Amino acid sequence: MRITVAGAGAMGCRFGAALFEAGHHVTLLDGWREHVTAINEAGLRVTDATGTRTLAVPAVFFCPPSRPSAQPVRPAGPADLVIVFAKATATAAVAAAAAATGAIGPSTLVLTLQNGLGNIEALLAHVPASRLLAGTTTLGTELLGPGHIRALGSGETVLGPLPGAVGGVGTEPAERIALALYGAGISVRTSPSALEVIWAKVAFNCVMNSLCSIASIPVSALARYSGFDALAGSVLDEVAAVARAEGVTVDTAAALRLMRAQFDPSASGDHLASMLQDLMNGRPTEIAHLNGAIAARAAACGVDAPVNATVSRLIGLLEATWTGRVNRLHPEAT
Ligand code: NAD
Repeated sequence: MRITVAGAGAMGCRFGAALFEAGHHVTLLDGWREHVTAINEAGLRVTDATGTRTLAVPAVFFCPPSRPSAQPVRPAGPADLVIVFAKATATAAVAAAAAATGAIGPSTLVLTLQNGLGNIEALLAHVPASRLLAGTTTLGTELLGPGHIRALGSGETVLGPLPGAVGGVGTEPAERIALALYGAGISVRTSPSALEVIWAKVAFNCVMNSLCSIASIPVSALARYSGFDALAGSVLDEVAAVARAEGVTVDTAAALRLMRAQFDPSASGDHLASMLQDLMNGRPTEIAHLNGAIAARAAACGVDAPVNATVSRLIGLLEATWTGRVNRLHPEAT
């Protein structure tokens, strides 16, 4: 297959690398110039438990449209599959860049496995629902530097069609793409309801990602807080109410069980939530697509979501003030 990975950071490079090694024609499309240059000059370096290998995957740079010096992206011709793996905050820009390359043709399938709400709506500006597949992945990957990723452990990828897609072609495209991912060594299954899969992960992230970020703790440290169930429940109940208003079921009891399973140090260890890593790196978080999206959608559908609104504002406060954080009682004493 001809595959374009639109937004080729940690996860985009991981999926791109696996599909490239399985023999597909992969192009990485990204807006970080040093990263693209490093990949084209020295190859994409992939480190995992077996060591480090270097892959000659071609990469293409696109300038975010917000930059005045934006250059048109080089036309690439339609791909069979475009995998969008930007942060949710950049989905619209990355999808526009992929469309500008001509990668999204009349029969191209587009797949998003990103976290958060709003990605599907942004992608529908460029592809009809009948050719949009969506889902989640629990694979973990780190970007170690330009052109270098570390693939962490194992995880499952779930994808499926959107419900009621106009002119939908059923589950065949999802099965075809799942087969390609399976052939590339990725543990994958299809689901008849992409939205339920996405909302279940949104529920998980609205609690785990946001609370770990506010408290500045690794995931496993939540186990020491006896009030966790009540706190998580107050976030989850609102998520489930908004999902219900949008016709999607979120099983809050199952979500809570999944979260508590992460407390086992062997499950999450010292893992730092991606939102906390974004704060520490001075990068925008995906909060507007998690608790922020719950608050906004709640307002739109007449549901109350004050807890998620407050969590969202607290993360906003951290984004705005992170560099001024105090780490010791008397900083002037050292
Ligand atoms: P990422 O931060 O690695 O990459 C996103 C974009 O940021 C890329 O365009 C990348 O080039 C750019 N970028 C990264 N570091 C940069 C730097 N120092 N300077 C300039 N640009 C930089 O994002 P990701 O972790 O691959 O996440 C993509 C999506 O997948 C998100 O929705 C995320 O929540 C989700 N996700 C991530 C993981 C994970 O383990 N990384 C797991 C599951 C889902």
